Amino acid sequence: MRILQLGRLSNDVNEALASGYDTTFLWQQTQADEYLRQNGNRFDLVVTSAQFGLTQTQLEYLPNLKAVCSFGVGYDAINVADLQKRGIVLSNTPDVLTDCVADLAWGLILDVARRISAADRYVRSLSWGGKQRFGNSTRVSGKRLGILGLGRIGKAIAKRGEGFGMDIAYHNRQKVADVAYAYFDDLGELATWADFLVIACPGGKETQGLVDASVLKALGEHGFLINIARGSIVDEAALIEVLQAKQLAGAALDVYAHEPNIPTALLQNGTVVLTPHMGSATLETRQDMDTLLLDNVASFMQTGRLLTAVTL
Ligand code: NAP
Repeated sequence: MRILQLGRLSNDVNEALASGYDTTFLWQQTQADEYLRQNGNRFDLVVTSAQFGLTQTQLEYLPNLKAVCSFGVGYDAINVADLQKRGIVLSNTPDVLTDCVADLAWGLILDVARRISAADRYVRSLSWGGKQRFGNSTRVSGKRLGILGLGRIGKAIAKRGEGFGMDIAYHNRQKVADVAYAYFDDLGELATWADFLVIACPGGKETQGLVDASVLKALGEHGFLINIARGSIVDEAALIEVLQAKQLAGAALDVYAHEPNIPTALLQNGTVVLTPHMGSATLETRQDMDTLLLDNVASFMQTGRLLTAVTL
């Protein structure tokens, strides 16, 4: 079986795929699209990532494709309906990244409320001790934590919230059976209730623009938005408007509508904390994700089955 790897992953993964299998690196082809058009029928398995995805055109050029192994848990950049139609199986790398993404969400909650990045800028500009006081920030402990998407990562964020003595509630399409947190079947009502609204649901067509102007206004002038999921879930223009109108206290974002491009209005807003889509990017978690990706490839090669298959 032949592997096509769509984009550059870690050196460990690139080397393991190159030495262990008959692997072609698409990004090394001078004319990648043309190469794929002419040679796509040779490949049985695609290795990609949440970032590189798999386009509909690429899929059309891969008539003998049997499996897709993706690095990362989100698969909104892969057209799963088309995979399903053709009986192509898909794996991702769930669970191993949950704790680190939840940790980053908490870093962002604390940063945006307690103004840690803003304080760092203040101290570095040698303003401390001068005329301009830094002022107060907002308490986190004991407040209301609303979670949009109480899945693996959402639950890990909630668990950490318990340690901060917070009231916790969530919105999913379905109520979760094994948790005692309050369930809101309406996202706007969750936003009205919450002091902090953390987004942890998948991206994709179904959640595109789910957090719109009405949800942001419901969160309100004392509320904070934290997004560690996907930029597509938030109406970015509406977010900028409510921030500029001070109808929202602040936002902390790891993901954006058009990465790596971030609107100037967000870059210039001092109540916003920005990180470069780094939720899972710790040394330990990235190694675990590499291992799980390679284990999925090995399993499919040996048994025809994936270890962490996405249920399509
Ligand atoms: P998961 O276990 O599948 O959880 C997703 C949750 O979202 C589920 O509870 C699901 O519940 C809910 N949900 C799905 N569609 C929804 C909708 N339309 N409206 C409301 N809730 C919805 O996934 P996970 O492992 O926690 O990962 C969540 C997401 O985090 C990923 O898809 C990925 O995009 C993002 N992520 C980001 C980073 C980063 O670096 N920033 C890293 C890893 C993951 P229902 O099915 O009941 O609705």
